[in-house]
Order: sequence, then C-alpha cells, then structure tokens
Amino acid sequence: MKYFIVSDIHSNLEALESVLDEKDSHHSDSQLVCLGDIVGYGPSPNECIEMIFERTEHTFLGNHDSAVTGSTSSERFNSYAREAIQWTREHISRENLSKLRSMHLGRHFDDFLAVHASPSDPRSWIYITSIYAAYKEFKAVDDRVIFIGHTHIPAVFSMNNEVEMTLQDSVDLDRDKRYIINAGSVGQPRNGDPRACCAVFDTEKMEVMYIKKEYDIDKTAKKIRDAGLPGFLSDRLKRGV
Ligand code: ZN
Repeated sequence: MKYFIVSDIHSNLEALESVLDEKDSHHSDSQLVCLGDIVGYGPSPNECIEMIFERTEHTFLGNHDSAVTGSTSSERFNSYAREAIQWTREHISRENLSKLRSMHLGRHFDDFLAVHASPSDPRSWIYITSIYAAYKEFKAVDDRVIFIGHTHIPAVFSMNNEVEMTLQDSVDLDRDKRYIINAGSVGQPRNGDPRACCAVFDTEKMEVMYIKKEYDIDKTAKKIRDAGLPGFLSDRLKRGV
C-alpha cells in the first residue's frame, strides 16, 4: 500500500495543485491522507477544502482548521495567524465550514497513526520540534509509525534505544525502530526550502520519500496581498520560513 501524505496546506491552492499533479502523474496508485491545517494564512480556503474533500475522506483536524470553526481559541496564535483566521472566517462558505467541523483528530490506519500535532494529546497542539519532545511522545503512546504535521519541518524521528532525527529526503524504515515522521508543509514550508513538500509512505518497501515541488509562488503571494492579508505571509513563502 502506498499513502500520499499532505499536511499544512494553509489555503495555498497553487502549492496543493502542484503536489496533487505529482500524485496523479507518479503516484496514482497511492491513497491520499491529509494531516490537517487545510486553511489559515493563505488566500484560497474554499478551493483547498473542496479539493481535499473531493479526493479523500482521510483528512484530520489541524489547529488552524479548528480555530476557524471556533472550537480552538486563536489567542495563542501570533498576530499574523490570528488576522488570517479572522479573514478566513469572513470568506469561508457555510458548506466548507461544516466540512471543517466534521474533521476528526486522527486515525489508526493498518500501518500507522495519523494526527496533526502530537499523538499523546492531539488537541493540545504540542509542537514536536526536538529529540526530547519526540522522546516524550514515544513514551506516551505505543504506535510504531506515526505521521504528523504542524511544525512545517519535514523531519523523521526514530527510536530504538535512543531517539535520533534525520532531515534526509528518503528514509528506509528499520523493523526494529519506531518512527514519528513529519510530512512537512504543502503550503508554507519553514525549513528554508520554499518548494511545496509532502511525503509518500510505501508500506511494502517500508520507505518514506519526501516530495518537494516548485509551484507559482509569485501567484500565491500576489493573491495574499490582493486579499488584504498581512504582507509578511506572502514574503515568507518565497523564503520558506
Ligand atoms: Zn500549520
């Protein structure tokens, strides 16, 4: 089985289209899974929600999705994120809002757990950014392979006797180890590489491969500015931060 795993699309339609083109042309046999944050930051919330829901039932709730519906407070968000949440609330259709409301926090697939932020407590939106944070998660749950998003950094944490982290573009999973795998961000990468990022998990080969795709960043950046969203949100796309 092959899974095509996208996360943190953040209303960036051009980035989403570019990774789904890649799926259609090179991974058409894969199952699409979305780890959440379809909306927030970007200018195309309705188009992104519709595109994801058309193509998969496996889409899970992110903190921005939850904030738009009002079930997570945006108080802890930075001012740019908060402004974008407010903008999204004003522009999302009623139908798409109810799609966001229908999303669950995660799901156990045969070969892995899928969740937006942290497996130990998905609703607290913990950021797994360090080896220590990953270690605490490995201790708290017993899933062998866990896919997450949320930090926008494509990274693989592995645990045997100790926890290690790698930023390699492809990783062969070792049967003796456990893994927390961050799929990276389609619509707002923060690893210094502005290309749209997602992951393919081949459960037969036990291999994870990252896909990094160029897209028309200038077009998205202009849409952000034209929408009246904070200019910083368009500038950061070009730098991948
Ligand atoms: Zn996000």
